[in-house]
Amino acid sequence: MNLTERLHRRIATQGPITLADYMTACLLDPAEGYYTTRDPLGAAGDFITAPEVSQMFGELLGLALAQSWLDQGAPAPFLLAEPGPGRGTLMADILRATRAVPGFHDAARLCLIEASPALQAVQAATLRDHAPSWVDRMDDMPDLPLFLVANEFFDALPVRQFRRDGPAWREVMIALRDDALTFGLGPSAPVAALAHRLEDTAEGDVVEICAPAAAIAAEIGQRIETRGGVALIFDYGDWRSLGDTFQAMRGHGHADPLADPGKADLTAHVDFEALATSTPSAHSLLTPQGVVLERLGITARAQRLAEGLTGSARDAHIAAHRRLTHPAEMGSLFKALAFYPRRAAPPPGFEAAGNRP
Ligand code: SAH
Repeated sequence: MNLTERLHRRIATQGPITLADYMTACLLDPAEGYYTTRDPLGAAGDFITAPEVSQMFGELLGLALAQSWLDQGAPAPFLLAEPGPGRGTLMADILRATRAVPGFHDAARLCLIEASPALQAVQAATLRDHAPSWVDRMDDMPDLPLFLVANEFFDALPVRQFRRDGPAWREVMIALRDDALTFGLGPSAPVAALAHRLEDTAEGDVVEICAPAAAIAAEIGQRIETRGGVALIFDYGDWRSLGDTFQAMRGHGHADPLADPGKADLTAHVDFEALATSTPSAHSLLTPQGVVLERLGITARAQRLAEGLTGSARDAHIAAHRRLTHPAEMGSLFKALAFYPRRAAPPPGFEAAGNRP
């Protein structure tokens, strides 16, 4: 039975499933999951990410990480970690940019968290000179100071959706109608995790919660607070989730998320407030990606790289700079949040959120 048939049978026998169950099946099914079976990135794939747009993204993040590492006394050894590393491009750029930082490479233990065997193979090839190791879960990482980057990882984690119904909520479910997948609503019930959302939502509003994201943020923050380190988290989303942001991307355009299970990327916007309130470490102000990259010096770096380029390569480079930073492109939709120890200063490019003791 293929994935679509298995989903139909599951719903027919067990009843409607949550969005989170549907996302998990479509993205990570061992035989037909979207991520498990393919490399979806790049021009020939379904979407493109900041590190695939330009090497500048990883270079600047690498130098920010290395500066934080120096500021925290250059702990050795330390974990250089990335969940959801895609093709390994971001990590390769980080490693190239930090080559000249004395002691950084010697002290780094490269640890990747990747659910997709297909992408793990690509990462192994990209990073073969750096002896990466892989773990399945954050809490399997060695207990060391943690310097972590995550780009477009949290948006891939499964969300549940709830529609406001008076003082309660109805969960958005995926059901079967006329032998086709369709959205439906579960029964009205109170949801403890959404008690605080009764204050800022109106009848019919949709909110999303991502339990794995909060658990992962808590794990990362706990390690940073006790062992030192920093986490730089880039993704699309906002401070507080409001509205239906569940979407499917296929061939660089929007698709029907129920049409072809396993064939499209399914994501939801990241609720950065939920990450920030889960971490026991300090967190920065949530900052637009374009602003962080400007603060880290992307314009100077772009000009320097442009000197060596002519013709269409130069045009592409200028377009990539704009794409990463301009508010009409990735500059504002994408945001960045940093975690850092309460006793330390925020990393370069970030400001304290004012919640430190
Ligand atoms: N960071 C990369 C890739 C982003 S795509 C970039 O910016 O180009 C999302 C990545 O997260 C993929 O590598 C995907 O396989 C991985 N991923 C998705 N869900 C995951 C999960 N639950 N656990 C670990 N990795 C996951």
